Amino acid sequence: MPFVIPSEGGCQCGEIRYRLIGEPIFLTVCHCTDCKHQSGSAFGMSLRMRKADVELLQGAPKQWTTRSDNGNPKICVFCSSCGTRLWHGPGPLGNLSVKPGTLDDPSQLAPRYEGWTKRKLPWLRIEGLEASFEEQGSSHRPASAS
Ligand SMILES: [Zn+2]
Ligand SMILES: [Zn+2]
Repeated sequence: MPFVIPSEGGCQCGEIRYRLIGEPIFLTVCHCTDCKHQSGSAFGMSLRMRKADVELLQGAPKQWTTRSDNGNPKICVFCSSCGTRLWHGPGPLGNLSVKPGTLDDPSQLAPRYEGWTKRKLPWLRIEGLEASFEEQGSSHRPASAS
């Protein structure tokens, strides 16, 4: 995935700013119910990053914990002023799932995988994605990644 390092992003109101200083692990599209509720839209996107590669530049995000569709606790980090979700995690592997729509320039990224396709909205078509990973028995994580 070609990616300009570092890349910066932030919340909708500008209070929280962050910088990605390492190569993303992968980018996924997720069709689970939780991602639809969180994004308020047709699907969610997760840019998997090593925690050490995500630097908080400005602001003090808040967090709360929910459970993902596979039952694991999920830490949700957001701006308390505008409510923008910034990232989830760290998860069991110590990685963060950055919400890539918060990047200043998300156009350089393209998703490679999609998950929870059984919950995909019937009108939605996204070209070029590889087989979903939850059908390989590993939700939110493709079999080829650690
Ligand atoms: Zn904000
Ligand atoms: Zn999801």
